[in-house]
Amino acid sequence: MPQFDMIILTPAAAANADVLEHTAGTPVREGGGDETYRCGACKTKLLVNVSHHDAHGVVVKCGKCGKLNTEPHHHH
Ligand SMILES: [Zn+2]
Repeated sequence: MPQFDMIILTPAAAANADVLEHTAGTPVREGGGDETYRCGACKTKLLVNVSHHDAHGVVVKCGKCGKLNTEPHHHH
């Protein structure tokens, strides 16, 4: 079960992204795969046991610390 720390984006960098709003205590997405993604700032689990496809290109606003996170290996 790979676990990744996400990368923090500045609000400007995320301005054109579809931002998923995370609520503290509940993952934004859960299930469908085996990859878990944590907030790059506070280590809260934002995406739990998702497939890579479900994390690809996603921007998540952490419900605990308010940072904007994107998945760490979106390059090709
Ligand atoms: Zn956080």
